[in-house]
Amino acid sequence: MQSYEHILLAVDYSQESSSLIEKAQVMVERFQAKLSVIHVIDAIPMPDTSYGTVIDVNQEVDDPLLAAEQMKFKELCQQLQINPAEQWLVWGIPATEIINVAKHVQADVVLIGYRHHHGLAALFGNNAAEVMRHVQCDVWTVTLR
Ligand code: AMP
Repeated sequence: MQSYEHILLAVDYSQESSSLIEKAQVMVERFQAKLSVIHVIDAIPMPDTSYGTVIDVNQEVDDPLLAAEQMKFKELCQQLQINPAEQWLVWGIPATEIINVAKHVQADVVLIGYRHHHGLAALFGNNAAEVMRHVQCDVWTVTLR
């Protein structure tokens, strides 16, 4: 089986994402790979400030919603022992930013959850399918139940 050196884990904090996180830990162990983690902030409006779209988790921010996002992401990264350089808290459209960061960090595999979508959501809301369509590296999907 092919080995991987750099895994990019995409997390959305949904209830089922613990199985995705567990799989990431198994993969890191199995391949002795580096792990980068990305969460894309898409649920709160981007404040009119100079923060930029990549958020430094340690930067002091005035916006309480953004501060809460930083805290949540920081806790996850601490739990997974992720180096600061491999922590990606980014504003934007999830699939787009996952694809951008995968390219930027030269990940050789993206680990992402897959859930069955129905109707219009199947066309427009399926991040795993969108990432698979456009990213240049491998994609491992974990079916979320
Ligand atoms: P969805 O397409 O919303 O069913 O999400 C499928 C998977 O895409 C999730 O299990 C995550 O791996 C990833 N994902 C969705 N939303 C985000 C997000 N905001 N940031 C990072 N990854 C995400």
